Amino acid sequence: MEIMEEKQLHWADYYAEKIIREKGDKEVYVCASGITPSGTVHIGNFREIISVELVVRALRQKGKKVRFIYSWDDYDVFRRVPSNIKNRQIMETYLRKPITSVPDPEGREESYARVYEKELEELLPLLGIEPEYIYQANMYKSSTYAGGIKKALEKRETIRKILNEHRTSPLPHDWWPLSVFCTSCQRDTTKMLNWDGEWEITYSCNSCGNRQNLDIRKTSSVKLPWRVDWPMRWDFEDVDFEPAGKDHHSEGGSFDTAKKIVTAVYEHSPPVTFQYDFLSIKGRGGKISSSTGDVVSLKDVLAIYQPQVIRYLFAGTRPNTEFAISFDLDVLKIYEDYDRCERIYFGLEKIGEKREAKEKRIYELSQIGEPPGRIPYQVPFRHLCNLVQIHVGDVEAVVEGFKGIVDDEKDYIRARARCAWNWINLYAPDEFKFLLKGEDDKPIETDDTGRKVLSLFKNEVIEKLDSCDDQSLSKVLFDTARKSGLKTGDFFKYIYQALIGKDRGPRLANFLLAAGKEKIEKALKHY
Ligand SMILES: [Zn+2]
Repeated sequence: MEIMEEKQLHWADYYAEKIIREKGDKEVYVCASGITPSGTVHIGNFREIISVELVVRALRQKGKKVRFIYSWDDYDVFRRVPSNIKNRQIMETYLRKPITSVPDPEGREESYARVYEKELEELLPLLGIEPEYIYQANMYKSSTYAGGIKKALEKRETIRKILNEHRTSPLPHDWWPLSVFCTSCQRDTTKMLNWDGEWEITYSCNSCGNRQNLDIRKTSSVKLPWRVDWPMRWDFEDVDFEPAGKDHHSEGGSFDTAKKIVTAVYEHSPPVTFQYDFLSIKGRGGKISSSTGDVVSLKDVLAIYQPQVIRYLFAGTRPNTEFAISFDLDVLKIYEDYDRCERIYFGLEKIGEKREAKEKRIYELSQIGEPPGRIPYQVPFRHLCNLVQIHVGDVEAVVEGFKGIVDDEKDYIRARARCAWNWINLYAPDEFKFLLKGEDDKPIETDDTGRKVLSLFKNEVIEKLDSCDDQSLSKVLFDTARKSGLKTGDFFKYIYQALIGKDRGPRLANFLLAAGKEKIEKALKHY
């Protein structure tokens, strides 16, 4: 990582170069990621996917062919019924079966696993992420890995030795690097009894008593345990790069033992890797993931951040750094940072050559596809929060308020306005929220001074709304306040009370211009 800093490379480019250097010149480079679909894929897991995608992109930009694979470990066992699940009692009867054999408790998809696979597969293209999906249940059921399984059986003692190095209690003498789903009851509650040295194994089932011989070239019921499955697939898919989280990357963790097993058993070099750090969540309450199944998903993040801004968060942070996905007021700052990065990319803001190069690269990597040919129509997120509230969530009305812009600019504003409205409704602090009064609303009770202030405001300010810009309107407002004989703060308080029923609100000149003469007139009709 230090070398990377010296060279001022983006981390994705640094790893792309490292892969080429360590793996040599190859026709195709394989970059891998994957997970067990036993629940909603949370935003912490997304860090792995986007990390791989950024490196894939960097490799492709160097003219390399890349296969980006995403493995659904859907031949894993259904170990635990999440506490918030429907039809709990029925679901419990599926414990210890493969998650692809467990039904979707809500009957939407063909299996429990498919629900979570589909959830993510539908969202990733929105972020420009399109891996090739590999379904491990299909791979195992079609005996595609038979050769790799046989090798593991042959090298049973080598694997045992590697795994025992990190175990407090050694694996029992009758341990085999294989798990078997009983062909009768489908559970993995089986015991392997024998291997004939070729393709046949014998097992018995502790649940139903079934005892059987299976040919590993023909059966759909065997799989390798996780710590052996991973290195077998590195060999099978010829994986060149795969990052992993802290939990796998510790000494004696599954990445560590997989490295040893791939070398000793499969005679294949381990992939280039890095460890990505955990994410935390800010301003939402609750944890990123929990046993209750309540997680912060990619969908939750897409509700308030444009896809480019999500990519920006990950592209702009080194994988080994912990950072927070914010749902609180930081959202405004993150949008501002993104817009600034965009202005730097288009040469509209200068920060010095070195830092500019870095920001420009982050911007490129934040785009869904190629960067746009000209700068998008930037509307600050904060301002859109005001606009969507003035129009009470009518995003189309907000978009129509921008005159003389073309369709793709409208799309861009529309997408951001939707995020703003979601943020206001889901996470914005109360002092940020307002509702502009309409002509049918009852006027607030005010005193003589208030009536004087409002009459002065109507006479001096409203007429000028159509012809003023932000700066000249501010001047008009301050002059009018002075005329009223009140302190500016007190004067503004009367105006905010009449418009939104609060003592404070968004910056007044900006707010009045955003709302427009017609809406302000209606709001003050009864005074
Ligand atoms: Zn059985």
